[in-house]
Amino acid sequence: MDFAFNKQQKMIQKEVRRFAQDELAPHYTEWDRKKIYPRELVRKMGDLGFLGVSVNEDIGGGGDSYVTEGLVCEELSRGDCSITMSTHVAGHLCAGLLEQAGRDVQKAFLEPFMAGEQIPAFCLTEPDSGTDAGALQTSAEKKGASYVLNGEKSGITAIMDADVALIFARTEPGRTAKGVSCFVVPCNLPGVSTQAYEDMGCNAVVRGSLFLQNVEIPENYRIGEEGKGFKLAMQGFDISRIFLCLEAIAPAMVSLEETMAHVKQREAFGRPLATFEGVSFPIVEHFSLLEAVRLLCYKALWLKDQGQSSSKEAGMVKWMAPRFSTNAIRDCIGLHGHYGYTKDYPLEQRLRDVLAIEIADGTPQVSKMVVQREMMGRAYLPYNYK
Ligand SMILES: Cc1cc2nc3c(=O)[nH]c(=O)nc-3n(C[C@H](O)[C@H](O)[C@H](O)COP(=O)(O)OP(=O)(O)OC[C@H]3O[C@@H](n4cnc5c(N)ncnc54)[C@H](O)[C@@H]3O)c2cc1C
Repeated sequence: MDFAFNKQQKMIQKEVRRFAQDELAPHYTEWDRKKIYPRELVRKMGDLGFLGVSVNEDIGGGGDSYVTEGLVCEELSRGDCSITMSTHVAGHLCAGLLEQAGRDVQKAFLEPFMAGEQIPAFCLTEPDSGTDAGALQTSAEKKGASYVLNGEKSGITAIMDADVALIFARTEPGRTAKGVSCFVVPCNLPGVSTQAYEDMGCNAVVRGSLFLQNVEIPENYRIGEEGKGFKLAMQGFDISRIFLCLEAIAPAMVSLEETMAHVKQREAFGRPLATFEGVSFPIVEHFSLLEAVRLLCYKALWLKDQGQSSSKEAGMVKWMAPRFSTNAIRDCIGLHGHYGYTKDYPLEQRLRDVLAIEIADGTPQVSKMVVQREMMGRAYLPYNYK
């Protein structure tokens, strides 16, 4: 058993941490307030090799492990935990799908993503199907050498800035995962339109709905076999959910570090706040829980790197990480006293941002259902029990 990152991973960690500190953290609040997607910086991430870390080297990716990609995601999230929702969660899901596309499609959409030139969006959720994602109703009808797509996708991260959308649509009628296929749709095609949401957090990567009205794409824009797209989406979640959890843990860790520094220096009753156990013990408890979940995240990524399943571990961390993180940041606000409640500190923004992570890529309930399925068997899932 080896709990250490290797030499190269430690170097990457240091480099990404410096980038997050110098280039992301100073703008975190401004991007939120002004709803700016920092395209220039994402381009820089591409130049530095921070995008597509685990994509196969043969097609221009980093060819690195999921553990290393998780490390990059975690370190970037210490500076800004909302941008990584687009670059390393939706970005990872889309890159994983595009890796399975033909070479032309990879050249047109995967390479520009990895260079930080194009923003992809992952479009599964619909107004009437979220947790029960297999019930989706967007349709893709085969017409000669094309598909024609119609429908609506909702809740999509960064859709207002996206250049390309990975769309899950039905090629066979029904309300189950069977008959769902995956397609690449450039967002500038006729018939594609979007509408922005007014969210409580993650405002740099504005969410919204995507509408498809008779959108025609060539048949080679389908990824994988017809009718087998749902499995592709689920495979990606086993990793993206873990990245999301590291993205939740990072801002809590930074908040706890800042809070530790604050309570060591701030005095009450003639002594530093840190000397009161009512102040220091909550900090210790949050660090303990977050470090335990963080290790489970890396174990899950390591399992994936070994070609093993990480569904159970991904389900476990997905319900714990955002909850433990919001609990920690909430206490950090309190331990900063009344200043902690102001917008002068990034604490309130981190709390808003991490709340999003609890719902995105699956709620705590669906995450627990995954763990239940892995531990007790499919027969005991609520929708399978007869
Ligand atoms: C910040 C953010 C970013 C997102 N980004 C994307 C994106 O990029 N692409 C995308 O496709 N989607 C995205 N989503 C959508 C997200 O995946 C869905 O919101 C999520 O899966 C839940 O679906 P829903 O909102 O329809 O809730 P519903 O399915 O309506 O669920 C409502 C509540 O009921 C609970 N529930 C449902 N079924 C059960 C059950 N069987 N047992 C117990 N409880 C149950 C749920 O857990 C939840 O608490 C994003 C969401 C957020 C908040």
